[in-house]
Amino acid sequence: MQIYKLTYNPFQENMYVVSDENKNCVIIDPGCYFREEEQHFMKFIEEYELKPVALLNTHAHLDHIMGNQFIKSNFGIDIYLHPDDKPTFAMAEKSAQLYGLDQFKASPEPDKWLEDGQTLQFGEMSFEVILGPGHAPGHVAFYNAENKFVINGDILFQGSYGRVDLPGGNMAQLKKTITERMFSLPDDTVVYTGHGGETTIGAEKQSNPILWG
Ligand SMILES: [Zn+2]
Ligand SMILES: [Zn+2]
Repeated sequence: MQIYKLTYNPFQENMYVVSDENKNCVIIDPGCYFREEEQHFMKFIEEYELKPVALLNTHAHLDHIMGNQFIKSNFGIDIYLHPDDKPTFAMAEKSAQLYGLDQFKASPEPDKWLEDGQTLQFGEMSFEVILGPGHAPGHVAFYNAENKFVINGDILFQGSYGRVDLPGGNMAQLKKTITERMFSLPDDTVVYTGHGGETTIGAEKQSNPILWG
């Protein structure tokens, strides 16, 4: 299994591509926004000869779905989102206007709805869906136990956590998500974050400020 990280758009959002030995890949939180970023992404896919099979969204904040329309129109793959994030999804276009992002392309409607505890299987790759509200109401993390990693969007960051002051945000919920769901994963699980660098569950259990938040 390979994990690629591509950081795009004015929010410096981390998009992840996870591929198996047969070069099937899932695209998580496509953030490509500018024309050069779209071109960069296409070049990356060609260079590694990857075959996209699904588009997973951890949540529907605009920086995580900015590339949905581009990916969908190029590869025709299904978009997955948790239904609790429908309100976030519905707000994305308006948020883009507020940020003055006039090249924002609205995401097509999701094709498949995620469920807490569900196992997703794509080629040789499997992910457990962990529902983790707080930063956004329908935020999920994608956990791969075998390879000891979790793609967690904006739940945990290295030494920090997702903001809770956006619509649908809730500090008590986020704290519960992190302490009860994320911190129950093994300490050596690598956490791939929506912004910034990677961390581990063990490291965040020691010193993440949510413990005192
Ligand atoms: Zn977010
Ligand atoms: Zn984000």
